[in-house]
Amino acid sequence: MNPADIPGLPPGVPDFLVESGIEELYPPQAETVEKGITEGESLVASVPTASGKTLVAELAMLSSVHRGGTALYIVPLRALASEKKAEFERWADFDIDVGISTGNYESSEEWLASRDIVVATSEKVDSLVRNGAPWLEDLTCVVADEVHLVDDPNRGPTLEVTLAKLRRITPDLQVVALSATVDNADAVADWLDAELVKSDWRPVDLRTGVHFGDAITFDDGEQREVPVEKGERPTAALVDDALDEEGSSLVFVNSRRNAEAAARRLADVTADHLTDDERDELATLAEEIADVSDTETSDDLAAVVRKGAAFHHAGLSADHRSLVEDAFRDRTIKAICATPTLAAGVNTPSRRVIVRDWRRYDGEFGGMKPLETLEVHQMFGRAGRPGRDPYGEAVLLAKDHDTMDELFERYVWADPEPVQSKLAREPAMRTHLLATVASGFARTRSGLLDFLDRTLYATQADDTERLESVVDDVLAYLDANGFVDRDGEELTATNLGHTVSRLYLDPMSAAEIVDGLRAADDPTPLGLYHLVSRTPDMYELYLKSGDRETYTELCYERESAFLGRVPSEFEDVRFEEWLSALKTAKLLEDWASELDEDRIAERYGVGPGDIRGKVDTAEWLLGAAERLATELELDCVVAVREAKKRVEYGVREELLDLAGVRGIGRKRARRLYEAGVESRADLREAEKSVVLGALRGRERTAERILENAGRRDPSMDAVSADDEAASDADGAVATEETETADADQQASLGDFG
Ligand code: ADP
Repeated sequence: MNPADIPGLPPGVPDFLVESGIEELYPPQAETVEKGITEGESLVASVPTASGKTLVAELAMLSSVHRGGTALYIVPLRALASEKKAEFERWADFDIDVGISTGNYESSEEWLASRDIVVATSEKVDSLVRNGAPWLEDLTCVVADEVHLVDDPNRGPTLEVTLAKLRRITPDLQVVALSATVDNADAVADWLDAELVKSDWRPVDLRTGVHFGDAITFDDGEQREVPVEKGERPTAALVDDALDEEGSSLVFVNSRRNAEAAARRLADVTADHLTDDERDELATLAEEIADVSDTETSDDLAAVVRKGAAFHHAGLSADHRSLVEDAFRDRTIKAICATPTLAAGVNTPSRRVIVRDWRRYDGEFGGMKPLETLEVHQMFGRAGRPGRDPYGEAVLLAKDHDTMDELFERYVWADPEPVQSKLAREPAMRTHLLATVASGFARTRSGLLDFLDRTLYATQADDTERLESVVDDVLAYLDANGFVDRDGEELTATNLGHTVSRLYLDPMSAAEIVDGLRAADDPTPLGLYHLVSRTPDMYELYLKSGDRETYTELCYERESAFLGRVPSEFEDVRFEEWLSALKTAKLLEDWASELDEDRIAERYGVGPGDIRGKVDTAEWLLGAAERLATELELDCVVAVREAKKRVEYGVREELLDLAGVRGIGRKRARRLYEAGVESRADLREAEKSVVLGALRGRERTAERILENAGRRDPSMDAVSADDEAASDADGAVATEETETADADQQASLGDFG
């Protein structure tokens, strides 16, 4: 099918498609058009990676907008939202505005109403529904990317409930669900009352196989010799072999540390295949990467990139990731070692995909657990770049014959697992039942069951009894904690319940926070950081060997800071959780004491992306705590707000005012402070030469900061930097490195430099 034959598109779009290289639709794409994707028809497309799902989504959204509607594109990961937005911005010439909804959870973001396409995560859409964003009623088309993730125990239920709610708000909504190839795509289509396109078609042939000994055995029985020399690792041999034919490799491993270690080793392999020009290009790229942040991760990444390899995991910052992905796409980087988390969603095709680790540590499972077939197939799908590679190869590694047989059984021959709703899990039910009652979707117990009947769970469940009993347990919990009132059949959310739902908190987090806040009138920052760190909404930092002792000691040392009862050492699981929350709390305290990012990364064994993640989550949870404290008229409101601000800016108490000036940042605020400019008001009055000196002579920066502080004449023309201010400011850097312990000491830290 040619683009010109697609009905319902805005004029000019078909020509534009042809100009951008889409001369003909891929067969599965054509099938979606035949089934009415551009005419408002709901559809589930279950097709392999790289078979052009994005275009299917775009066709649906463009035609919907052309008919006067608004489209919503739901992404599975926040990190993908801006990428998708950038991708859709190619339609700007057709008067299509794209918006991205990333703002904080507790808002309805009215401005989004003016956009034609909005990109958001399912959590964000869920919260928009809870906050009653009126523009949701105007939606005509919603796309759910990677819809097979409804299967995910943690995040799946949100996607499931969100789709059910959107369909209820707008009964004739077009729903386009994009899925990996799963066995029971028909169940998903059934649930969504949608047409189904199911296909195994790929733009590039894919061969899958297992490497064992000195050869890869492929699924068609053919073998390719890839000898492994003595002392060489099979992965290295495979990457080297691919490079002999100028093919790139994507290696999947099971942890960040493994990704970094493998990249270091593979860098020696890729380095041997570089031309002089490539070496120059990589040197420039490495510098760019090192400039992204001054952390060890940044330097480590730069070091391997210089030699043509890279690692890729969720600990990288967004800038790192896009630099690495771009360079891999244009073949400057020859091999990437990745954890599966992000790589699944990112468009980084490669000649050869090597699944080195097919088992991963799983806490609930209590050991190393084999990856799901679906996940491994998603990794396989990254093999073969259309237009670049004649074919793609995906290879698993076996150490012995038995493993080789197992891998063939488990991954090469096997069909992926069916998608199975996880809605009946209690944490999911807690959150979603409260939200469903609070936002008025259901006002009675039977209304609630009725709503749940529109979920995938109901489509799949044989017995409704299990669902009913979970619902009753959860309602009892919500009632006991004061989030809902039950009056016979009638259900209403209490004020507290409404707040919790709008704040997007797990009710269990809210209950923990409320109890903790009630336990102390004048909580310390550490106490508050610990409180939010022990809620189910904060991802845990694992305790490493030795940590148990360190944090047990700290736990006794700072015992008076904790809000609520400290569990005894003999309550094994609870105590362990308490300590791991303490580790997170200590990280936050270090951050709010101006410790360098690099030092924090080293001390806690995390990457800069993790620090950012913890800080963002803490800021959100403390904001929620502040709202709860206000709602309940508790005395600790001010203490909570201050602890939140300190995390937000990453500064000690005395810098709070300065750090609130836009564009200042924690380091510059500290330098200004040391030079005697201690507040926003000081910025408006201070000698410009002092300000300039403290800002290391950077005129533009100084002007911008003065302007943001509200100074009338921010110009730095003819101002020269005060040397003394500059050296005071340098002294300040020392304070940033200095370890601080108690909150009490912090008030006097002005004396340091
Ligand atoms: P998926 O989301 O299915 O993994 P993408 O939508 O990212 O795959 O598409 C993979 C690549 O194929 C993109 O670079 C896209 O531009 C290209 N592509 C999609 N459809 C066509 C087509 N009909 N003809 C040529 N290239 C296409």
